[in-house]
Amino acid sequence: MRVALVGAGIVGVTTAYELAALGHEVTVFERRGSVAEEASFANGGILAPGSIAPWAAPGEPSRLLRQWLGPNAALRLGGAGALAQLPWLWRWWRACRPAVHQANRLALHQLAGFSRDRMLELTRTLRLEFEQMPGWLVLLRGARELHEAQGGLALLRELGVAHDVVDPVRARQIEPGLATGTELHAAIHLAQDGVGNCRQFAQALKAEAQRLGARFQFDAEVRSLAPGTRPALQLAGGEIHEAEAIVVCAGAQANALLAGIGCGLPLAAVHGYSVTAPLRHLDGHGHNAPRAALRDERFRVAIARLGQRVRVSGGAELGGSAARMHPATLRTLYKVLDDWFPGAALVREAQQWKGARPMLPDGPPVLGESGAPGVWLNLGHGASGWVLACGSARVLAERISGRAAPLDCARLGLARLRGAG
Ligand SMILES: Cc1cc2nc3c(=O)[nH]c(=O)nc-3n(C[C@H](O)[C@H](O)[C@H](O)COP(=O)(O)OP(=O)(O)OC[C@H]3O[C@@H](n4cnc5c(N)ncnc54)[C@H](O)[C@@H]3O)c2cc1C
Repeated sequence: MRVALVGAGIVGVTTAYELAALGHEVTVFERRGSVAEEASFANGGILAPGSIAPWAAPGEPSRLLRQWLGPNAALRLGGAGALAQLPWLWRWWRACRPAVHQANRLALHQLAGFSRDRMLELTRTLRLEFEQMPGWLVLLRGARELHEAQGGLALLRELGVAHDVVDPVRARQIEPGLATGTELHAAIHLAQDGVGNCRQFAQALKAEAQRLGARFQFDAEVRSLAPGTRPALQLAGGEIHEAEAIVVCAGAQANALLAGIGCGLPLAAVHGYSVTAPLRHLDGHGHNAPRAALRDERFRVAIARLGQRVRVSGGAELGGSAARMHPATLRTLYKVLDDWFPGAALVREAQQWKGARPMLPDGPPVLGESGAPGVWLNLGHGASGWVLACGSARVLAERISGRAAPLDCARLGLARLRGAG
């Protein structure tokens, strides 16, 4: 089948690869000059399928309200643009109900587990290198964080996810660089989760997709879609490209295309930040450096080792703009790095980045038919697109090929967003 794909972020690249691997003739259209130039560019790198959970969770609204005006607030509203997000926030609030959260968490967990297996298989068979390292330590600074983690821990037990709740001494054995001067009450260790460089993986998999015949057209912005039995898309330059199926993997900007065919989604761009800095080397060794991946639960900031660099990521801004960096959020990232790994990185050489998570209000992505003939969706992976990409791509490629999906897709379609749920 001839398949045209819009977007070459991590979701588009993995989808192109899987479609090509199943024998389809794939062309990818990407408006930027390379793969992984937007949300997939400098994301946190965290690969934590074990503890994946929707942001819409019981207790979250009151927790966010508590922090709202503090200097280290995890969520910020981006001025007037935030007003337009009120319907999205309403849907998010509704998805925080325990039963809805539970169903979404389970769907995410299944997709993430499948995705991890697929990524491991690709990594092994294609010998991919992307600064990967196992180990994920969730740092709980005080008794309150441990108390708040109980619901999540119960679910880890219920889902059979291997994990340990460890004391500070054990936590510091797992991550020997952790500073002793910062209060640490306990930590949750998931040895099978970890970190990897999303952009490097996308670049490597693009080359593999090309080897299978997939074509990538860069600087090619898709202006409109025309659904049908022979769907087509039109590029900004006017050129029309016909196919037998179109897959939209356009991330947070997808609605600009989908609205034109009456298939708009409740998709918000939730901006986040990352800071990446080279490690300081003393006597040839990383000084007090992180070994793998960590998360400070109080500040909701992740710290990851990527080769000889460290990346700190966090912040959630609804309705903001990509162009304006919020100084307070950046200060929180530097503070958390300094609390746990003081002096480990050359922060004066740090690169600061802001990207948009393509976020649906309830959590799971949308994989499947758009409702318009010939147009398929692989969208809305929110804060976990790197974790979910390989599995989502495989599921969609199997479905486009008319094969049975490898897992239950009941909560991964549009129906849940159109219903009351
Ligand atoms: C600060 C931050 C930290 C994160 N940390 C993690 C993490 O640790 N782990 C994790 O799993 N996830 C993380 N994420 C989320 C993850 O990065 C995203 O879910 C993922 O990158 C989304 O991939 P995507 O391919 O859907 O979107 P994108 O990477 O944004 O790709 C979409 C592509 O579509 C292209 N496009 C859009 N419209 C058009 C058009 N009309 N024509 C042609 N091309 C078009 C864009 O140029 C873009 O290249 C983080 C995100 C942020 C912002």
